Amino acid sequence: MRYREDASLDTSGVRDRRGVPGGRGLAVGGGGLGLVGVVVLVLVQLLGGGDGGGAGAALGGLSGLDQGETADNTQLAQECRTGADANASRDCAVVADIESIQDYWTGVLGSAYAPTETVFPGSVQTACGGATSGSGPFYCPADRLVYIDLTFFEDLRTRFGAEGGAFVDAYVIAHEYAHHVQDLLGTNQQVRPGETGPLSGTVRLELQADCYAGAWARHAETVPDDSGAPLIAEITQDDVDRALDAAGRIGDDFIQRELGGGTVDQDAFSHGTSEQRQRWFLTGYETGDPARCDTFATDDLG
Ligand SMILES: [Zn+2]
Repeated sequence: MRYREDASLDTSGVRDRRGVPGGRGLAVGGGGLGLVGVVVLVLVQLLGGGDGGGAGAALGGLSGLDQGETADNTQLAQECRTGADANASRDCAVVADIESIQDYWTGVLGSAYAPTETVFPGSVQTACGGATSGSGPFYCPADRLVYIDLTFFEDLRTRFGAEGGAFVDAYVIAHEYAHHVQDLLGTNQQVRPGETGPLSGTVRLELQADCYAGAWARHAETVPDDSGAPLIAEITQDDVDRALDAAGRIGDDFIQRELGGGTVDQDAFSHGTSEQRQRWFLTGYETGDPARCDTFATDDLG
């Protein structure tokens, strides 16, 4: 994956909380949520922070907006000016990905798309509970923000055994923005909070997000940025293979078998199997059509 060297980057889609005084060391959740966080926070997401005694209540007086006010993009803006910076730096690549993904959805949905920001958390309370360094990426409907601790991308390699790479990062980000799209379109409302299982609304929502990520990827080399030219110059077959490799390592069956207790429990499925995640990413990528991502219309999820 390569970014157009002379593209200009815009960091306004990011709230960089890393290194903000007081941003780290907050005792939330007793340390990294890590792998569990990837799963649990999505459940919390579906609860919308609305369960009285849970994450929503723990929020106290803080809101996403409050947190955003203490973000500091100064360093990021200095480092990430052009597509060449994105080619050289993972952080800047993420900035470019966010821009490209949102340009795509603006093109697809027009005024129905409301851009939103990604928080790089140091350690923050969110409207969906605590996000510590080590949390998996998640989308929080209560404040409509994406939270991504960039160290997760390294976890994908070291803990999940994924090959990784810039396009894998982009796939993960596109998946989280897909949840924002689902939120805007009201798709979340088709899902009973906390519901799990192979045909659950939760799984359908997650597989659709993979499909939406694939649809963006199909168009990523042509979606124009503010200047009218695409931010992303090239996505290769190797990139797509790496995304499929990653999708294969964040399926419920793989996680339960390889990283959990070793037993596969379908009733606990929340994201779909590895094979299903690969299939739906590919459906989006091969068709380039979000309308083909209607995982709620079929019981053949793969
Ligand atoms: Zn998800």
